[in-house]
Amino acid sequence: MADWDWDQFDDVAPELQVALVRRAVDHCDAVRERCHGCRRTPLVGERVYFDEAGTVYCELCRALEGPEVATESRIVHGPEFGHSMWLTDRRVA
Ligand SMILES: [Zn+2]
Repeated sequence: MADWDWDQFDDVAPELQVALVRRAVDHCDAVRERCHGCRRTPLVGERVYFDEAGTVYCELCRALEGPEVATESRIVHGPEFGHSMWLTDRRVA
């Protein structure tokens, strides 16, 4: 371990942290994200839309009062199945 290159670790760590933060943010978004129209938290698998300001609209509210042209849309993701299965496998083994 004495020969470990900590300078190299410094180069890698920020990228790793960014990746971890991104995953955490993605997870939080799925919980925290609320429709601007009805204040409902979009369901997993539901498509949500964003306007230019980043305001979130669910499918229904986008049709009723949302932006005519959403700049971005994506499916709300649930827990990562692969991760859960990996933990289960480890517990069994
Ligand atoms: Zn809504």
